[in-house]
Amino acid sequence: MNRELIRILLVEDNLGDAELFQDILDMIPESQTWNVTHVMRLTEALVELERDPVQVILLDLSLPDSQGLQTLVTLREQAPTLPIVVLTALNDEQLAITAVREGAQDYLVKGLVSGGTIARSMFYAIERKKNEIAMQSCLEQERQLREIKSRFISMLSHELRNPLTTILASADLMENLAEELSDQKKREMNRKIKESAGRMNKILNDLVALWHQESLELTSFNPCWFDLPPFCQKLVAEFQIQLDHQCSQRANSIDLIFVSQVKTYPVYLDLNLIEQILTNLISNAIKYSPKGGPVKFELTADFKQVIFQIQDSGIGIPASERDRLFTSFYRASNTKGISGTGLGLSIVKNAVEVQGGTIQVNSEMEKGSTFTVTLPYEVF
Ligand code: ADP
Repeated sequence: MNRELIRILLVEDNLGDAELFQDILDMIPESQTWNVTHVMRLTEALVELERDPVQVILLDLSLPDSQGLQTLVTLREQAPTLPIVVLTALNDEQLAITAVREGAQDYLVKGLVSGGTIARSMFYAIERKKNEIAMQSCLEQERQLREIKSRFISMLSHELRNPLTTILASADLMENLAEELSDQKKREMNRKIKESAGRMNKILNDLVALWHQESLELTSFNPCWFDLPPFCQKLVAEFQIQLDHQCSQRANSIDLIFVSQVKTYPVYLDLNLIEQILTNLISNAIKYSPKGGPVKFELTADFKQVIFQIQDSGIGIPASERDRLFTSFYRASNTKGISGTGLGLSIVKNAVEVQGGTIQVNSEMEKGSTFTVTLPYEVF
Protein backbone atom coordinates (compact mmCIF):
# COMPACT_ATOMS: atom_id res chain seq x y z
CA MET A 1 0.00 0.00 0.00
CA ASN A 2 1.12 3.52 -0.75
CA ARG A 3 1.84 5.05 2.64
CA GLU A 4 1.77 8.80 3.12
CA LEU A 5 4.34 10.14 5.52
CA ILE A 6 2.95 12.71 7.93
CA ARG A 7 5.51 14.90 9.61
CA ILE A 8 4.49 16.12 13.07
CA LEU A 9 6.16 18.75 15.19
CA LEU A 10 5.47 17.89 18.83
CA VAL A 11 6.04 20.87 21.12
CA GLU A 12 5.90 19.37 24.62
CA ASP A 13 8.11 20.09 27.63
CA ASN A 14 7.06 17.00 29.57
CA LEU A 15 9.27 14.09 28.48
CA GLY A 16 6.85 11.51 29.87
CA ASP A 17 3.93 12.94 27.89
CA ALA A 18 6.07 13.10 24.75
CA GLU A 19 7.07 9.44 25.05
CA LEU A 20 3.46 8.47 25.76
CA PHE A 21 2.40 10.30 22.64
CA GLN A 22 4.99 8.43 20.54
CA ASP A 23 3.78 5.09 21.99
CA ILE A 24 0.17 6.02 21.21
CA LEU A 25 1.05 6.80 17.62
CA ASP A 26 2.97 3.55 17.23
CA MET A 27 -0.13 1.61 18.25
CA ILE A 28 -2.46 3.26 15.73
CA PRO A 29 -3.14 0.99 12.74
CA GLU A 30 -3.45 3.89 10.25
CA SER A 31 -2.51 3.82 6.59
CA GLN A 32 -0.17 6.74 7.24
CA THR A 33 3.21 6.60 8.82
CA TRP A 34 4.13 9.34 11.23
CA ASN A 35 7.40 11.05 11.64
CA VAL A 36 7.61 12.98 14.89
CA THR A 37 10.10 15.73 15.67
CA HIS A 38 10.01 16.53 19.36
CA VAL A 39 11.06 19.88 20.86
CA MET A 40 10.57 21.16 24.40
CA ARG A 41 10.56 24.95 23.97
CA LEU A 42 8.80 27.47 21.77
CA THR A 43 12.11 28.92 20.54
CA GLU A 44 13.21 25.44 19.47
CA ALA A 45 9.91 24.97 17.66
CA LEU A 46 10.44 28.20 15.72
CA VAL A 47 13.95 27.12 14.70
CA GLU A 48 12.68 23.68 13.70
CA LEU A 49 9.96 25.18 11.50
CA GLU A 50 12.57 27.22 9.66
CA ARG A 51 14.74 24.14 9.22
CA ASP A 52 12.32 21.45 8.15
CA PRO A 53 8.72 21.58 6.88
CA VAL A 54 6.04 19.66 8.82
CA GLN A 55 2.35 19.03 8.11
CA VAL A 56 0.91 19.52 11.59
CA ILE A 57 1.94 20.91 14.97
CA LEU A 58 0.85 19.32 18.23
CA LEU A 59 1.26 21.99 20.85
CA ASP A 60 1.35 22.11 24.63
CA LEU A 61 0.47 25.66 25.72
CA SER A 62 2.57 25.69 28.89
CA LEU A 63 6.23 25.69 27.95
CA PRO A 64 9.33 26.89 29.85
CA ASP A 65 9.70 29.94 27.54
CA SER A 66 6.05 30.71 26.76
CA GLN A 67 2.75 30.32 28.56
CA GLY A 68 -0.90 30.00 27.58
CA LEU A 69 -2.47 31.51 24.50
CA GLN A 70 0.62 33.54 23.61
CA THR A 71 2.39 30.26 22.73
CA LEU A 72 -0.26 29.57 20.10
CA VAL A 73 -0.31 33.15 18.80
CA THR A 74 3.48 33.25 18.32
CA LEU A 75 3.55 29.90 16.58
CA ARG A 76 0.65 30.79 14.31
CA GLU A 77 2.32 34.04 13.26
CA GLN A 78 5.42 32.07 12.30
CA ALA A 79 3.52 29.30 10.49
CA PRO A 80 0.13 30.68 9.36
CA THR A 81 -0.47 27.89 6.85
CA LEU A 82 0.16 25.00 9.27
CA PRO A 83 -2.61 23.32 11.26
CA ILE A 84 -2.03 23.47 15.01
CA VAL A 85 -3.71 21.07 17.45
CA VAL A 86 -3.46 22.13 21.08
CA LEU A 87 -2.82 19.25 23.52
CA THR A 88 -2.69 20.59 27.05
CA ALA A 89 -3.35 19.76 30.67
CA LEU A 90 -5.49 22.92 31.06
CA ASN A 91 -9.12 21.81 31.04
CA ASP A 92 -10.55 25.27 30.49
CA GLU A 93 -13.51 25.61 28.14
CA GLN A 94 -13.18 29.36 27.70
CA LEU A 95 -9.48 29.01 26.86
CA ALA A 96 -10.35 26.24 24.40
CA ILE A 97 -12.83 28.48 22.57
CA THR A 98 -10.36 31.39 22.48
CA ALA A 99 -7.63 29.07 21.19
CA VAL A 100 -9.84 27.90 18.33
CA ARG A 101 -10.74 31.54 17.58
CA GLU A 102 -7.03 32.31 17.47
CA GLY A 103 -6.58 29.68 14.78
CA ALA A 104 -6.04 26.35 16.57
CA GLN A 105 -7.67 23.53 14.65
CA ASP A 106 -8.57 21.65 17.83
CA TYR A 107 -8.12 21.79 21.62
CA LEU A 108 -7.53 18.47 23.34
CA VAL A 109 -7.12 17.90 27.07
CA LYS A 110 -4.48 15.39 28.16
CA GLY A 111 -5.94 12.41 29.94
CA LEU A 112 -9.44 13.01 28.55
CA VAL A 113 -8.74 11.85 25.00
CA SER A 114 -7.61 8.54 23.60
CA GLY A 115 -4.69 8.00 21.22
CA GLY A 116 -7.13 7.37 18.39
CA THR A 117 -8.85 10.72 19.04
CA ILE A 118 -5.54 12.58 18.96
CA ALA A 119 -4.54 10.93 15.69
CA ARG A 120 -7.93 11.59 14.09
CA SER A 121 -7.89 15.18 15.28
CA MET A 122 -4.49 15.74 13.66
CA PHE A 123 -5.58 14.03 10.48
CA TYR A 124 -8.77 16.12 10.22
CA ALA A 125 -6.82 19.27 11.13
CA ILE A 126 -4.51 18.73 8.15
CA GLU A 127 -7.46 18.28 5.77
CA ARG A 128 -9.40 21.24 7.23
CA LYS A 129 -6.37 23.49 6.89
CA LYS A 130 -5.92 22.42 3.25
CA ASN A 131 -9.57 23.36 2.57
CA GLU A 132 -9.16 26.65 4.42
CA ILE A 133 -6.10 27.56 2.31
CA ALA A 134 -7.87 26.56 -0.92
CA MET A 135 -10.87 28.66 0.07
CA GLN A 136 -8.66 31.65 0.93
CA SER A 137 -6.95 31.38 -2.44
CA CYS A 138 -10.38 31.27 -4.18
CA LEU A 139 -11.44 34.38 -2.25
CA GLU A 140 -8.20 36.12 -3.16
CA GLN A 141 -8.70 35.25 -6.84
CA GLU A 142 -12.24 36.59 -6.63
CA ARG A 143 -10.98 39.80 -5.02
CA GLN A 144 -8.37 40.24 -7.77
CA LEU A 145 -11.02 39.64 -10.45
CA ARG A 146 -13.28 42.26 -8.88
CA GLU A 147 -10.38 44.72 -8.82
CA ILE A 148 -9.53 44.03 -12.49
CA LYS A 149 -13.20 44.41 -13.42
CA SER A 150 -13.47 47.76 -11.68
CA ARG A 151 -10.21 49.02 -13.26
CA PHE A 152 -11.50 47.79 -16.63
CA ILE A 153 -14.83 49.63 -16.32
CA SER A 154 -13.23 52.89 -15.16
CA MET A 155 -10.58 52.67 -17.92
CA LEU A 156 -13.21 51.98 -20.60
CA SER A 157 -15.58 54.72 -19.54
CA HIS A 158 -12.75 57.26 -19.26
CA GLU A 159 -10.68 56.34 -22.28
CA LEU A 160 -13.60 55.90 -24.67
CA ARG A 161 -15.57 58.89 -23.44
CA ASN A 162 -12.77 61.41 -24.13
CA PRO A 163 -12.30 60.72 -27.87
CA LEU A 164 -16.04 60.23 -28.25
CA THR A 165 -16.68 63.69 -26.78
CA THR A 166 -14.12 65.18 -29.20
CA ILE A 167 -15.79 63.47 -32.17
CA LEU A 168 -19.28 64.61 -31.18
CA ALA A 169 -18.21 68.19 -30.44
CA SER A 170 -16.29 68.48 -33.74
CA ALA A 171 -19.18 66.98 -35.71
CA ASP A 172 -21.62 69.41 -34.02
CA LEU A 173 -19.44 72.40 -34.83
CA MET A 174 -19.03 71.33 -38.45
CA GLU A 175 -22.78 70.90 -38.77
CA ASN A 176 -23.85 74.12 -37.06
CA LEU A 177 -21.05 76.47 -38.10
CA ALA A 178 -20.20 75.03 -41.50
CA GLU A 179 -20.46 78.46 -43.18
CA GLU A 180 -18.30 80.34 -40.71
CA LEU A 181 -15.45 77.84 -40.39
CA SER A 182 -12.36 78.40 -42.50
CA ASP A 183 -11.05 75.53 -44.63
CA GLN A 184 -8.05 75.23 -42.37
CA LYS A 185 -10.27 74.95 -39.27
CA LYS A 186 -12.36 72.29 -40.99
CA ARG A 187 -9.23 70.30 -41.87
CA GLU A 188 -8.07 70.57 -38.28
CA MET A 189 -11.41 69.27 -36.98
CA ASN A 190 -11.37 66.49 -39.47
CA ARG A 191 -7.94 65.50 -38.23
CA LYS A 192 -9.14 65.58 -34.62
CA ILE A 193 -12.06 63.30 -35.50
CA LYS A 194 -9.72 60.86 -37.24
CA GLU A 195 -7.23 60.92 -34.37
CA SER A 196 -9.98 60.30 -31.80
CA ALA A 197 -11.42 57.46 -33.88
CA GLY A 198 -7.87 56.09 -34.14
CA ARG A 199 -7.54 56.14 -30.35
CA MET A 200 -10.82 54.29 -29.95
CA ASN A 201 -9.73 51.80 -32.57
CA LYS A 202 -6.45 51.20 -30.70
CA ILE A 203 -8.37 50.54 -27.45
CA LEU A 204 -10.63 48.04 -29.20
CA ASN A 205 -7.62 46.34 -30.85
CA ASP A 206 -5.88 46.12 -27.48
CA LEU A 207 -8.98 44.60 -25.92
CA VAL A 208 -9.21 42.01 -28.70
CA ALA A 209 -5.49 41.21 -28.26
CA LEU A 210 -6.05 40.86 -24.51
CA TRP A 211 -9.03 38.60 -25.10
CA HIS A 212 -6.94 36.29 -27.35
CA GLN A 213 -4.18 36.33 -24.80
CA GLU A 214 -6.49 35.49 -21.87
CA SER A 215 -8.17 32.69 -23.78
CA LEU A 216 -4.71 31.38 -24.68
CA GLU A 217 -5.44 31.66 -28.38
CA LEU A 218 -2.28 33.65 -28.82
CA THR A 219 -0.16 30.54 -28.34
CA SER A 220 -1.11 29.55 -31.90
CA PHE A 221 1.10 32.25 -33.42
CA ASN A 222 2.07 32.39 -37.10
CA PRO A 223 5.77 32.82 -37.72
CA CYS A 224 7.15 33.52 -41.20
CA TRP A 225 10.52 34.52 -42.69
CA PHE A 226 10.97 38.25 -43.17
CA ASP A 227 13.79 40.77 -43.20
CA LEU A 228 13.71 42.55 -39.84
CA PRO A 229 15.65 45.85 -40.37
CA PRO A 230 13.54 47.11 -43.34
CA PHE A 231 10.38 46.11 -41.43
CA CYS A 232 11.49 48.20 -38.42
CA GLN A 233 12.52 51.06 -40.70
CA LYS A 234 9.04 51.10 -42.29
CA LEU A 235 7.35 51.11 -38.88
CA VAL A 236 9.52 54.00 -37.71
CA ALA A 237 8.68 55.91 -40.93
CA GLU A 238 4.95 55.50 -40.15
CA PHE A 239 5.52 56.90 -36.66
CA GLN A 240 7.49 59.75 -38.20
CA ILE A 241 4.52 60.67 -40.43
CA GLN A 242 2.22 60.78 -37.37
CA LEU A 243 4.76 62.88 -35.46
CA ASP A 244 5.04 65.31 -38.38
CA HIS A 245 1.25 65.69 -38.38
CA GLN A 246 1.22 66.33 -34.64
CA CYS A 247 4.15 68.71 -34.86
CA SER A 248 1.97 71.83 -34.89
CA GLN A 249 0.02 70.63 -31.79
CA ARG A 250 2.96 69.53 -29.66
CA ALA A 251 4.68 72.14 -27.59
CA ASN A 252 7.81 69.99 -27.46
CA SER A 253 8.95 67.96 -30.40
CA ILE A 254 10.06 64.35 -30.41
CA ASP A 255 13.13 63.30 -32.29
CA LEU A 256 12.60 59.66 -33.32
CA ILE A 257 15.90 57.98 -34.10
CA PHE A 258 16.28 54.47 -35.53
CA VAL A 259 19.68 52.82 -35.36
CA SER A 260 20.27 49.36 -36.78
CA GLN A 261 23.51 47.45 -36.50
CA VAL A 262 22.50 45.29 -39.43
CA LYS A 263 21.13 46.20 -42.86
CA THR A 264 19.56 42.86 -43.49
CA TYR A 265 18.67 40.13 -40.99
CA PRO A 266 16.12 37.43 -41.87
CA VAL A 267 14.07 36.22 -38.90
CA TYR A 268 11.43 33.54 -38.49
CA LEU A 269 9.01 35.31 -36.13
CA ASP A 270 5.38 36.42 -36.02
CA LEU A 271 5.05 39.69 -37.96
CA ASN A 272 1.88 40.78 -36.16
CA LEU A 273 3.36 40.15 -32.74
CA ILE A 274 6.57 42.01 -33.62
CA GLU A 275 4.45 44.92 -34.81
CA GLN A 276 2.44 44.84 -31.55
CA ILE A 277 5.64 44.87 -29.51
CA LEU A 278 7.30 47.73 -31.37
CA THR A 279 4.17 49.85 -31.84
CA ASN A 280 3.33 49.73 -28.16
CA LEU A 281 6.88 50.40 -26.95
CA ILE A 282 7.54 53.25 -29.39
CA SER A 283 4.16 54.91 -28.85
CA ASN A 284 4.67 54.68 -25.06
CA ALA A 285 8.15 56.22 -25.37
CA ILE A 286 6.61 59.13 -27.30
CA LYS A 287 3.53 59.44 -25.08
CA TYR A 288 5.48 59.45 -21.82
CA SER A 289 7.86 62.16 -23.07
CA PRO A 290 5.57 65.19 -22.63
CA LYS A 291 8.57 67.51 -22.64
CA GLY A 292 9.75 66.09 -25.95
CA GLY A 293 13.30 64.88 -26.53
CA PRO A 294 14.89 61.99 -28.37
CA VAL A 295 13.26 58.56 -28.62
CA LYS A 296 15.87 56.09 -29.75
CA PHE A 297 15.06 52.67 -31.18
CA GLU A 298 18.13 50.50 -31.51
CA LEU A 299 18.16 47.13 -33.24
CA THR A 300 21.06 44.78 -32.63
CA ALA A 301 21.42 41.19 -33.71
CA ASP A 302 23.92 38.36 -33.45
CA PHE A 303 23.97 34.82 -34.71
CA LYS A 304 21.20 33.63 -32.39
CA GLN A 305 19.11 36.56 -31.16
CA VAL A 306 17.76 40.03 -31.88
CA ILE A 307 17.56 42.85 -29.37
CA PHE A 308 15.20 45.82 -29.55
CA GLN A 309 16.03 48.70 -27.26
CA ILE A 310 13.59 51.60 -27.02
CA GLN A 311 14.88 54.49 -24.99
CA ASP A 312 13.22 57.77 -24.09
CA SER A 313 14.03 60.71 -21.87
CA GLY A 314 10.52 61.04 -20.47
CA ILE A 315 8.81 60.91 -17.07
CA GLY A 316 10.32 57.60 -15.93
CA ILE A 317 8.62 54.90 -13.85
CA PRO A 318 8.55 54.81 -10.03
CA ALA A 319 10.86 51.99 -8.89
CA SER A 320 8.27 50.46 -6.56
CA GLU A 321 5.77 50.08 -9.43
CA ARG A 322 7.98 48.56 -12.13
CA ASP A 323 7.00 44.96 -11.35
CA ARG A 324 3.31 45.70 -11.88
CA LEU A 325 3.55 47.46 -15.25
CA PHE A 326 2.96 44.26 -17.17
CA THR A 327 -0.31 43.52 -15.35
CA SER A 328 -3.43 44.31 -17.41
CA PHE A 329 -4.99 47.72 -16.66
CA TYR A 330 -2.16 48.78 -14.35
CA ARG A 331 -0.95 52.37 -14.81
CA ALA A 332 1.82 53.93 -12.75
CA SER A 333 0.96 56.72 -10.33
CA ASN A 334 2.87 59.40 -12.30
CA THR A 335 0.67 59.18 -15.43
CA LYS A 336 -1.99 61.72 -14.46
CA GLY A 337 -3.00 63.79 -17.46
CA ILE A 338 -1.60 61.24 -19.92
CA SER A 339 -4.25 58.98 -21.41
CA GLY A 340 -3.85 55.22 -21.55
CA THR A 341 -5.51 51.89 -20.89
CA GLY A 342 -2.80 49.97 -19.06
CA LEU A 343 -3.09 47.21 -21.65
CA GLY A 344 -0.14 47.78 -23.99
CA LEU A 345 2.64 46.32 -21.86
CA SER A 346 0.72 43.22 -20.86
CA ILE A 347 0.11 42.58 -24.57
CA VAL A 348 3.79 43.22 -25.31
CA LYS A 349 4.95 40.86 -22.56
CA ASN A 350 2.76 38.08 -23.84
CA ALA A 351 3.82 38.67 -27.46
CA VAL A 352 7.47 38.50 -26.36
CA GLU A 353 7.12 35.41 -24.19
CA VAL A 354 5.07 33.43 -26.67
CA GLN A 355 8.04 33.78 -29.07
CA GLY A 356 10.50 32.62 -26.43
CA GLY A 357 11.86 36.08 -25.60
CA THR A 358 12.29 38.30 -22.56
CA ILE A 359 11.56 41.93 -21.76
CA GLN A 360 13.12 44.15 -19.15
CA VAL A 361 12.88 47.77 -18.16
CA ASN A 362 15.34 50.26 -16.74
CA SER A 363 14.11 53.63 -15.67
CA GLU A 364 15.01 56.74 -13.75
CA MET A 365 12.38 59.21 -12.60
CA GLU A 366 12.23 62.34 -14.77
CA LYS A 367 15.26 61.05 -16.73
CA GLY A 368 13.67 58.40 -18.92
CA SER A 369 13.07 54.70 -19.49
CA THR A 370 14.61 51.97 -21.61
CA PHE A 371 12.70 48.83 -22.60
CA THR A 372 14.84 45.96 -23.85
CA VAL A 373 13.32 43.03 -25.71
CA THR A 374 15.42 39.99 -26.57
CA LEU A 375 14.06 37.43 -29.03
CA PRO A 376 15.51 34.37 -30.72
CA TYR A 377 15.90 35.02 -34.46
CA GLU A 378 13.90 31.90 -35.16
CA VAL A 379 10.90 30.55 -33.30
CA PHE A 380 9.28 27.12 -33.75
P1 ADP B 1 -0.87 52.72 -21.07
O1 ADP B 1 -2.01 52.62 -22.03
O2 ADP B 1 -1.27 53.23 -19.73
O3 ADP B 1 0.30 53.42 -21.65
P2 ADP B 1 0.78 50.29 -20.98
O4 ADP B 1 0.38 48.91 -20.61
O5 ADP B 1 1.37 50.48 -22.32
O6 ADP B 1 -0.51 51.19 -20.77
O7 ADP B 1 1.81 50.79 -19.90
C1 ADP B 1 1.52 50.54 -18.55
C2 ADP B 1 2.12 51.64 -17.70
O8 ADP B 1 3.55 51.58 -17.77
C3 ADP B 1 1.77 53.04 -18.15
O9 ADP B 1 0.52 53.44 -17.67
C4 ADP B 1 2.92 53.84 -17.55
O10 ADP B 1 2.69 54.05 -16.19
C5 ADP B 1 4.10 52.88 -17.66
N1 ADP B 1 4.94 53.12 -18.86
C6 ADP B 1 4.99 52.36 -19.96
N2 ADP B 1 5.92 52.83 -20.81
C7 ADP B 1 6.47 53.92 -20.23
C8 ADP B 1 7.50 54.84 -20.60
N3 ADP B 1 8.15 54.73 -21.75
N4 ADP B 1 7.80 55.83 -19.74
C9 ADP B 1 7.16 55.93 -18.55
N5 ADP B 1 6.18 55.10 -18.13
C10 ADP B 1 5.84 54.09 -18.96
